[in-house]
Amino acid sequence: MKTLNSILLAVALLVSGYAVQADEVVVYSARNEQLIKPLFDAYTKETGVKVKFITDKEGPLMARLKAEGRNTPADVFMTVDAGNLWQAAQEDLLKPVNSKILASSIPAHLRDPGNEWFGLSVRARTVVYNRNKVRPGELTTYEDLASPKWKDRLCLRTSKKVYNQSLVGMMMYEHGEDKTEQIVRGWVANLATDPFPDDTKAMEAVAAGLCDVTIVNTYYFGRLMEKKPNLPLAIFWPNQNLKNKAAGVHVNVSGAGVTRHTKNEAGAIKLLEWLSSEKAQNLYADVNMEYPANPKIKPDAAVAAWGTFKSNLINVAQAGALQAKAVMLMDRAGYK
Ligand code: FE
Repeated sequence: MKTLNSILLAVALLVSGYAVQADEVVVYSARNEQLIKPLFDAYTKETGVKVKFITDKEGPLMARLKAEGRNTPADVFMTVDAGNLWQAAQEDLLKPVNSKILASSIPAHLRDPGNEWFGLSVRARTVVYNRNKVRPGELTTYEDLASPKWKDRLCLRTSKKVYNQSLVGMMMYEHGEDKTEQIVRGWVANLATDPFPDDTKAMEAVAAGLCDVTIVNTYYFGRLMEKKPNLPLAIFWPNQNLKNKAAGVHVNVSGAGVTRHTKNEAGAIKLLEWLSSEKAQNLYADVNMEYPANPKIKPDAAVAAWGTFKSNLINVAQAGALQAKAVMLMDRAGYK
């Protein structure tokens, strides 16, 4: 009898242990706490499911997932840039998800063709220029920034940043390697000064008159203009008048996938599905002045004020697939 009781107790503990686990999802996030906590709080409020998370840079988080292997407590991996998401899938850290909800809320070019990750917000990498120094009509395309008329007028962020590796990767997909290398060489020849460590510093150089034009993610423009509304900076949407599928503004995503060794796959999928829903999409995109990935949702008013644009419809996974080649190409072209 005593033995039976202790078996029953053990079973009860096991069952309750599983119940606790099922009501909790663990997220490894390369997005900052201030961007994800409001979302996860809203999820818990709505569903009763707790979201535990740790934040770090994507490199250490991926290394941790790899080292933990089957023992990882993580159910979801969240990061910025399709290049990073692609890398996580490549290293077998994610597992495919079959979800009708995700397939219908996230456009095909913003998710992994193998369904291992899904874009949840869209960031546009576009042209920002000095209104006092660039005439309307002077700007046309990313490619044109390689032409001699921009000599000593261009500032760029470093090629070490994945955002630029993805941009160049997507250009390689569109133009091939040789043409892209020519373009990047043209950019380098037009640089007014050494590349900057971040998008904000590149824009500040444009505002200060050190150069006239740069390429940045729009949320950095939004943040900077919120702080210093009098800067003579404006956004330009390049590549709008071309007709192929690759024509349009270079977009990238922040997104997430379910970890290969999750013990709560259903809970992880539910969280991702919720993140693609109307309510979450507003929260997710607005807090960082990004664009919702779900096209049914409108961007925040401050973001919408920058105007609408046509975006490049090539699958962002190409940015990952061509990343290593893009890094080598930029190195050859002298883009530091
Ligand atoms: Fe960023």
